[in-house]
Amino acid sequence: MKTVTLEKDCTIKLSSNIVDYIYPDYVFIPMFEEFKLKVKNREEVKKEQTLLSAENKTIISPVSGVVVGVKNCAVASGETVKCLVIENDFKEKMHSRTTIRKKLKQLSKNEFFQSLEKKQIFDYDFLKTKKFNKIIINGIEDEPYMATKLFTMSKYSSEILEILSLLAALFDVSENIIVLKNNDRDNIELFSNVLGTYPEINLNVVPDIYPIGKEIVLKNYINFSKEETLILSPLDLVKIYSILKKNKVITEKLITISGNAIINPFIVNAKIGSSVKKIIDEHVEYINNDDLVYVINGLMCGVETSIEDLVVTEDLEGIIINKKEMFVEQECINCGKCFDVCPVAIDPHLIFNKKKNVDLANKCINCGLCTYICPVYINFKRKIEDMIHEE
Ligand code: SF4
Ligand code: SF4
Repeated sequence: MKTVTLEKDCTIKLSSNIVDYIYPDYVFIPMFEEFKLKVKNREEVKKEQTLLSAENKTIISPVSGVVVGVKNCAVASGETVKCLVIENDFKEKMHSRTTIRKKLKQLSKNEFFQSLEKKQIFDYDFLKTKKFNKIIINGIEDEPYMATKLFTMSKYSSEILEILSLLAALFDVSENIIVLKNNDRDNIELFSNVLGTYPEINLNVVPDIYPIGKEIVLKNYINFSKEETLILSPLDLVKIYSILKKNKVITEKLITISGNAIINPFIVNAKIGSSVKKIIDEHVEYINNDDLVYVINGLMCGVETSIEDLVVTEDLEGIIINKKEMFVEQECINCGKCFDVCPVAIDPHLIFNKKKNVDLANKCINCGLCTYICPVYINFKRKIEDMIHEE
């Protein structure tokens, strides 16, 4: 499997600074098609009250306040979606009581599923039927200049270990691994120091190559079978912890804001549903705010976007704010570099020839290496995405 060591732009620095943005005036909650609206216009809502529901899934209000209408907003995928607008009353009136469960270790498998089902945030039905022999927590931050996963791992290290240990006991799994990159020195030190108290959990450190965070590539460095392995992100564990321990759904999300056009890169702990533009307007100091590009979720896999109506959702990992560079896409010179670098061996002729091969295009893992390597600035990744969407 092909991987590369990415050249990093030294002008983009990360800071260890976390700022809070948890009291927005308004929140914007995406109303995806499969969901039914459970509240009316002008209705008062409490924090964690159900706003929308679909089969086995609900979306709750991250604040208490009043429903004041609907607005088109952009989400991390780049789509525009109708969003329910809630005006925050800043009273934080809760829909249900916070109950602290003291000892998670005593939880039975039934109680575990009942707690998750009651909140209907996860579709973890597959856990009931599948048998796992390994649990992997993928703590790898693959995207250069992004630090959301790194900060999630460090901020919630004890919660992550407690839930991983619980899952290992509930599902009787003996091989439980936290995976980190070898350049994530802070987390390696942090977890190495506490793992002595969790003999059932091991740390596995992998090289700083790209895209090792993708399962298909990771498999070459850690031996696992996809069918028999439960792979979770640090955020999954944080969500489970919050429900099991506090009977609460998370309403905040860590996001990286960085890029070569800003002076003060930071991590923001943002209320879900907040306006990204407001966060940026209030906290970002620009070097020069002419000719900027905003890229959602990283330079390799992300998409360029406008932040005007972008809202914070659980899948928003970060915004890179870069100076616009004038790369003019030229005609393909058939150098074959994109094919050489592609981890799943997709041939560019698939796109440039008239006959499309959508099955092959569907194998794309959206790593962006082909675009990164192309000497004539062809955005091959986007062409594949467009081809899949056109189908
Ligand atoms: S074609 Fe897809 S998988 Fe291959 S390098 Fe490009 S983005 Fe990555
Ligand atoms: S790397 Fe660019 S120029 Fe070379 S074959 Fe691929 S698309 Fe064409």
